[in-house]
Amino acid sequence: MCLLTDRVGADVLRPGRLRVVATVAVGFDNIDVTAATAAGIVVTNTPGLLDETTADLAFLLILAASRRSTDAESALRGGRWDGWRLDGFLGTDVHGARLALVGYGRTGRAVARRARGFDMHVRHCTRHDTRDPGWTADLDALLGWADIVSLHVPLTEETHHLLDARRLALLRPTAVVVNTARGPVVDTEALAGALERGEIAGAGLDVYDDEPHVSPRLLEAPHLVLLPHIGSATAATRLAMVRHACANVDAVLQGRPPLSPVNPQVLA
Ligand code: NAP
Repeated sequence: MCLLTDRVGADVLRPGRLRVVATVAVGFDNIDVTAATAAGIVVTNTPGLLDETTADLAFLLILAASRRSTDAESALRGGRWDGWRLDGFLGTDVHGARLALVGYGRTGRAVARRARGFDMHVRHCTRHDTRDPGWTADLDALLGWADIVSLHVPLTEETHHLLDARRLALLRPTAVVVNTARGPVVDTEALAGALERGEIAGAGLDVYDDEPHVSPRLLEAPHLVLLPHIGSATAATRLAMVRHACANVDAVLQGRPPLSPVNPQVLA
């Protein structure tokens, strides 16, 4: 069993004693699945158990970044709050805003359900037509439309720096970016630059390029809410994830199909 903090590369993925790698996470970009498959090793993850918990956190970041709660609380705690002001800590409204979901799988859809309660206009981008209202494959056009962009894609070669400097420049100056997917989906330096220059209004991050290292530039950037990768961090959800991963290991060792194989072709 491994965690998303463990790199599982070809060096350990050799046929022989190792039969299964069960990650306690839904993302598996830390595992060399190609090498595992070539070695006949089953890789499993924990989908379907953390969608709602992660969507709650994405919504927390949407609200916090839009309403600048980190800026406001820091001022209060730092003794810099001098009282109610007509123009104090002005943010942007979440209710009624245009929400762009990049990735519309388990987490993206759970965020969309929450957005309906806030009377938001929701559109989403995926590679394949979801047949749901608001679908587009045109990410660039979606970014130009959005007030808030929330990322829910896995980290792959294709999604690495999906939100790069060129795409950040398509956003409105009032836009807010939220990333609960994986750090490298956003070009961090470009994001910091956009915030520093006031080209976007704010951002909220739960994930980073080189965790637990956080770029000093991000720590200094304005209007940025930073959380330490706590998307699935509730006691109930983490327990369910661990149990599910144990059940996956148990199944493989007992010669049964696991609950959630990432490379089911190994079982064929
Ligand atoms: P999922 O159900 O597999 O959904 C992924 C979505 O991304 C699909 O709609 C997929 O649609 C879309 N997609 C994939 N590649 C794309 C591309 N190049 N351009 C546009 N859309 C693309 O995954 P999930 O369970 O929602 O989780 C998503 C990711 O969030 C995970 O892989 C994990 O890395 C991360 N995560 C983080 C936390 C946390 O603690 N912060 C918690 C849970 C998950 P198409 O295939 O049609 O493109």
